[in-house]
Amino acid sequence: MTLFAGPVFDMARTQFNIIADHLEIPSDERDRLLLPKRAISVSCPIHMDDGRTAVFTGYRVQHHLTLGPAKGGTRYAPNVDIGEIAALAIWMSWKCALADLPYGGGKGGVTVDPRLLSPRELESLSRRYMQEMIPFVGPHTDVMAPDMGTNEQVMAWFMDTYSMYQGVTVTEIVTGKPVGSGGTLGRNEATGHGVAFLASRALDHLGIDPLASTAILQGFGNVGSHAAIGLARRGTRIVGLSDHTVAIYDRNGFDAQSAFDHVMKHRVLKGFADQAEIDPTELLTKPCDILAPCAVERVIDEEVAAALNCRILAEGANGPTTPDADLVLGNQNNAIFVIPDILCNAGGVIVSYFEWVQSLQQYFWSKDEVMEKLERALDRSWRQVVDRANRHGVSNRTAAMSIGVDRVRKAKQARGLFP
Ligand code: NAD
Repeated sequence: MTLFAGPVFDMARTQFNIIADHLEIPSDERDRLLLPKRAISVSCPIHMDDGRTAVFTGYRVQHHLTLGPAKGGTRYAPNVDIGEIAALAIWMSWKCALADLPYGGGKGGVTVDPRLLSPRELESLSRRYMQEMIPFVGPHTDVMAPDMGTNEQVMAWFMDTYSMYQGVTVTEIVTGKPVGSGGTLGRNEATGHGVAFLASRALDHLGIDPLASTAILQGFGNVGSHAAIGLARRGTRIVGLSDHTVAIYDRNGFDAQSAFDHVMKHRVLKGFADQAEIDPTELLTKPCDILAPCAVERVIDEEVAAALNCRILAEGANGPTTPDADLVLGNQNNAIFVIPDILCNAGGVIVSYFEWVQSLQQYFWSKDEVMEKLERALDRSWRQVVDRANRHGVSNRTAAMSIGVDRVRKAKQARGLFP
């Protein structure tokens, strides 16, 4: 039992123990690898527009600092708790190590529904959260980025608040900031682009013609929308989409760019294709070649896994598939080709790393350069994962996590107990 106990942390722990068994990690080494180095909880009081003072709870978890600063997004969502943030930080560790980035995993969050705040309230909360975090973060300690419910504007407020405290502009304190404020070209679409790139790689691997392929995406925010646009550009028909307001399905397909334009204008997918609305619980099990959950964790449980009707599961979201669902997929002889989250959505942190490097050097790259380096990095990880899965006869998730966990373990063994 730890401070972090809860459904999402328990899932991260179960996944880790499966990998630890596979790697034959002795039991006395496991807690040291799994439990976060540092967890911070802060209270963020702000003045609301109606004159009240409201206090929001924020968290930041730094899983380890063995390979470099902690790195990870900041989530604003009503159900955020310390266990969920710890799990997300742990997954970031394996993800960064798999991509060979010089980072430990980090994650932060505030328990709030950002859609219920006015722009001024959102700015006050974001600035206050960063203000509270100043003693614990830094460009070489912990570098934040966007996640669900936050965006480049929030990163700009974080960066400005930190910079004003230091008395100089410190763009390298966050990634995912606006290009005009030290951000990198390509970061905004990087995660979705990576999902589309790897899903297309999987089509190729399975010998499926992209021009005859179909995809369903759950979640149409930063990751889902850019993944849909990227897949559509490669010739895949987008037959299903959803966000928190609606799910739509049409075998003839939707125009991903028009859906994106609709969401830019109305903030929600509802109203884009009223005639195609379906029960959101049905979306994940509709027939398609590529199913890409790009919203929240634990949406594919045992029951959903048994009913999946796709060839490729491209995990844009973090932790969309539970360990019980993994067992179901394994029992089907891995008939569904899973691109596990720590590989599938790594495009975001890879381009965040490029942004951090550019910010540190104040030397900026072209978008083509960023995208070319991103695809090369994803391709390298893809080959390592597929190769290990084949060699060891294990699932892609076990292969991906084993590479990540083993790299962190070896770095800890080399350095000692401190970091
Ligand atoms: P976002 O806030 O931009 O979008 C989230 C989307 O999910 C929205 O369309 C929202 O309406 C939808 N959604 C929320 N709950 C839903 C539900 N129950 N059913 C269907 N749709 C629902 O967030 P994002 O940045 O796109 O992140 C999505 C996922 O991808 C998260 O798991 C996040 O951790 C992960 N991720 C994000 C990045 C990144 O760079 N943004 C990188 C790696 C992983």
